[in-house]
Amino acid sequence: MYTILHDQDEIIIRFEKDLVDDETLSRFLNHINLQSMLKKSDGDDASAHNWTACLPTGLILLRDPTLSKGSAFTRGEREALGLAGLLPPRVHTLDEQVRRILENLRKQSTDIERYVYLLALQDRNRTLFYRVLLDNIEELMPIVYTPTVGQVCFQFGHIFRRPSGIYITARDRGRIAELLGNWPNKDVQVIVITDGERILGMGDLGADGMGVPMGKLALYTVCAGIHPSLTLPVTLDMGTDNARLLNDPLYIGLQHPRIRGDLYDEMIEEFILAVQQVFPGCIIQFEDFANRNASRLIQQYRDQICCFNDDIQGTAAVTMAAIFSALRITGGALKDQRFLFLGAGEAALDTGELLVLALVAEGLSPKEARRCCWYFDSKGLVVKGRADLSGHKRLYAHDHSPVADFHEAVQALGPQAIIGVSGQPRQFTPEILETMARINDRPIIFSLSNPTSKFECTAEEAYTWTSGQAIFASGTPFAPVVTQGRTFYPSQGNNVYIFPGVGLGVMASGAAQVTDEMFLAAARAVSRNVSEEDLQNGRVYPPLSRIRQVSLDVAAAVAEQAYAGGLATKPLPGDLVEFIRGLMFEPVYRSYI
Ligand code: NAD
Repeated sequence: MYTILHDQDEIIIRFEKDLVDDETLSRFLNHINLQSMLKKSDGDDASAHNWTACLPTGLILLRDPTLSKGSAFTRGEREALGLAGLLPPRVHTLDEQVRRILENLRKQSTDIERYVYLLALQDRNRTLFYRVLLDNIEELMPIVYTPTVGQVCFQFGHIFRRPSGIYITARDRGRIAELLGNWPNKDVQVIVITDGERILGMGDLGADGMGVPMGKLALYTVCAGIHPSLTLPVTLDMGTDNARLLNDPLYIGLQHPRIRGDLYDEMIEEFILAVQQVFPGCIIQFEDFANRNASRLIQQYRDQICCFNDDIQGTAAVTMAAIFSALRITGGALKDQRFLFLGAGEAALDTGELLVLALVAEGLSPKEARRCCWYFDSKGLVVKGRADLSGHKRLYAHDHSPVADFHEAVQALGPQAIIGVSGQPRQFTPEILETMARINDRPIIFSLSNPTSKFECTAEEAYTWTSGQAIFASGTPFAPVVTQGRTFYPSQGNNVYIFPGVGLGVMASGAAQVTDEMFLAAARAVSRNVSEEDLQNGRVYPPLSRIRQVSLDVAAAVAEQAYAGGLATKPLPGDLVEFIRGLMFEPVYRSYI
């Protein structure tokens, strides 16, 4: 099927036309890390072979992060690939290299230093970088993603080393396709884009927000095995209103106030069209856009192209997963629950919409379904007759007398679950938690506001004031809690349970759109991965150490949904799960000779 030729500077692998289809070839090259080296020659007369992949040799190979194995190149490879003498004599295994990285990583004194160390490793040896992350995900997730990535973005310009991804500014109007075309990999299948206006609860960080798409895409690879060469981080730099950055000589973005209005919308539209042109079928994940843009952009584009907003749809799905798990503990039916949200903003209402979808799937009408969801915002309980209600919120304004105090609302409504998404700290007081435990054998208490300073209550408070009965989930990580003679393992509702698997499922099926039904299927798949033992230990999410399996199940559920909904563009494989498993990149070294 293929021949390997040795040239002076590179190894050329030629694939006989007609003997291998594009998809098989792509998967093969994925496995030997050569995806990015792939070149296709058009037309039958161009050559006897329509695909070639070139493997560089010598120092170029050693310095190529996608191909390098560092000290793990075998003796045979060193001889064949012009590496003899360029490496210390001892050949190490991948596991030994992982040990060395961990030893050095743990010696760093701050998490930011650990992040910078890992970034340097990513620039040096991708396989080792992803192996280290995958094998140590519980320890390293807080470094490559929240909370450290937040601190990283806060000082991104000051720790900037090497560019990664594409930066688009208003000056690039009319040539976004050209910029995307400058990216060396031509088969990009997942883009994460931010405009940096609402970075991880820290607000407007402008172009410094690039750390977020970079971090999210690293998680696509670690958690769902999407090959790094298929991913592209993008920052849309429309300026910043952050005075600190406007005056910082080391800031990496454009130092002018944010451009809004028509020009902003035109830039987004041009970007969307350019992606369709340069990377057709690519998934676009919108990330950390300000509320004012996030909802309207996703509403505008979700039915036109393959896109989603993780802050909106991912968050709602991850909360739904915890609700499904909690109901496995209480044994209650979804339709018999009353959910009382503290906060009626984007996070709360989007979760409500997914809840309604799940309830409608159980046979309720949308109106009946909405009656299961109650909201309490800064002005009190959301009830019919309140003059200040607008848009979506009005759909959830039920018949009830006004209530101004959240504890009173809990007493009046007797909810099975309270879900905190107000961004206001310490709102779940001991009295409220005690009341929840009086009303329910197993009260559902979700304290989802973040960052850490904003949670509604701690895990310890939730377990202590409900005598260990609370089913608890949070938006920030909490250490295990020992109380009532038991150890509880609080779960963090991390979107990483959802978006990498969704991306993989969409990619595998070639889904033309990403629907709410797919997110609901993803939520159910996450909950199915919570074992009985996990539930007994207080977990409503599976441990992160099982994230690859979770992502595979999420991907299969999403792809099934795509086929069932007529949105898939790829033929249905005989064994969907095995097909998707085969697409997953494993960070291991393959022999080059
Ligand atoms: P938002 O600004 O859209 O909504 C905030 C809501 O809280 C508004 O309805 C507001 O009226 C209400 N509110 C404010 N003060 C209140 C008070 N004292 N009592 C009751 N309600 C009050 O914000 P959002 O995007 O919905 O995010 C809200 C919070 O949820 C943030 O802390 C965010 O970080 C968090 N969040 C968490 C996750 C997660 O998965 N953990 C995901 C998304 C958002």
